[in-house]
Amino acid sequence: MALAASSPSRGAPPYAVVHVSVDGLRGGAIAKLGPRAVPHLYRLRIEGAFTDNARSDVDYTITLPNHACELTGRPVLGPDGHGVNFNSDDGRTLEAVHGSYVAGVFDVVHDRGLATGMYASKSKFALFERSWNAANGAPDTTGVDDGRDKIDVYVYQAGTAALLDSFTARMTAAPQRYAFIHLVDPDAAGHSYGWESAYYLDSIVKVDALVGRIFDLIDGDARFADATYLVLTADHGGNGTDHENAADPLNYTVPLYVWGPGVPAGADLYWLNPSTRANPGNGRPSYAASPAPIRNGETANLSLDLLGLPAVPGSVLDSAQDCDAVLPGGAGALPAVSITNPPSGTSLEYPASVVTEATADPRSGAIARVEFFADGVSLGADSTSPYSYAWTEIPLGVYRLTARAVRDDGIAATASVDIEIASAAAGTAGHSLLAPPRIYPNPFDRISTIEFSLPETDAVEVDVYDLLGRRVERLFGGRLGGGVHEITFDASSYAPGIYFLQLRSSAAVRTGKFMIVR
Ligand SMILES: [Zn+2]
Repeated sequence: MALAASSPSRGAPPYAVVHVSVDGLRGGAIAKLGPRAVPHLYRLRIEGAFTDNARSDVDYTITLPNHACELTGRPVLGPDGHGVNFNSDDGRTLEAVHGSYVAGVFDVVHDRGLATGMYASKSKFALFERSWNAANGAPDTTGVDDGRDKIDVYVYQAGTAALLDSFTARMTAAPQRYAFIHLVDPDAAGHSYGWESAYYLDSIVKVDALVGRIFDLIDGDARFADATYLVLTADHGGNGTDHENAADPLNYTVPLYVWGPGVPAGADLYWLNPSTRANPGNGRPSYAASPAPIRNGETANLSLDLLGLPAVPGSVLDSAQDCDAVLPGGAGALPAVSITNPPSGTSLEYPASVVTEATADPRSGAIARVEFFADGVSLGADSTSPYSYAWTEIPLGVYRLTARAVRDDGIAATASVDIEIASAAAGTAGHSLLAPPRIYPNPFDRISTIEFSLPETDAVEVDVYDLLGRRVERLFGGRLGGGVHEITFDASSYAPGIYFLQLRSSAAVRTGKFMIVR
């Protein structure tokens, strides 16, 4: 397929771009974890366009240089490079480092009168705040003079949960049309325990919950819903306990995900850009390579393109804004899909089955199939209209059901509804009284103790699942009396990693997580 190398045209202008950079997130890490462990990152994959094989800067795979790329659209070295080849803030500005003023995404958005925000979880991001503040930012010569301070809201908090609290509060009170969020967790876990460790995987599970909070903000606010793009990438990966070696594929391979209105669902970004970008395989192409790989440094101008704004002055990465994540024609170029049953918000009594029914209009060509998902986990597909999938024996819980209509040219779109499978005693006896199982110690090496309490005599199952949702072992199945119960759990035969422990009574399911480290 061929796409015009032009800015997308859409009906309504987009409202906002949220640009997320996950520090130290390896390219393959999300797929390794799978949809049950990281459902929100999988929502980006199922509903958006992505690659797990983007590239960092060629010469540097460390934090400050790559974030400078992500914010300016420049490489590190060379005459067009921003010049930040160091990884600790030395009190200078980008202008002082480069020798002349270096504009960034914030300049372009701010100078057009739109609010901007930056939420950082490392203190050295003060480099960016200082470079673009009221003293050091360039005069605004575009339209109305909005002043020199390019970053309206700057927040630094080392704890990312608190950082997301600030982001949600500030975006709700006075929306920023471009917000950049830096999430430190995987880098911190990688340096402390290694990029192969269960702690590292667990840090990405934490990031997934934070991304879920960004989705909650977008879904729950009419200003943002259906009008906001989420762009997610990483500065670098990691290997062992560091990421210094710029020649190591595990360091230079990063993800790049784009989600929002008009983005073809589930599309590979290289497939969307066949004439201008080429998947580099395991390689490390230079900046001279043509076609070029997709790079984290392109997220600067990609974010501006999604906002309908021009490229950063002086930038060279995607300065033509031809790295397309939205088809020419925008949402109108995608198939139209809707879920006709069940209605969103449906609550059913356990045990329950749900037939999801969808209609799909290809708009051009033909619908090849409609795929069905629950929280990112594939359920099945139907290739004949009316499209449906019968999901039976659904466990207790809340689910996001998604239908993805795939056209014969591979272009797809999604629709989703939320449902709940509740206990007959929901909110009263069994459901609310069954506490999640306690596991201690946790993390552990071989032996741990599982403790849970039953409100009354009940049939109970205790199962262990791996990250992909496969049952590893049933630890207990049978009837137990009310009160506290303990199981000594021998995990000597388990590989190190993250697992889920599921406690099921007749009225409720409770899940716990544990980690085996050796
Ligand atoms: Zn690091």
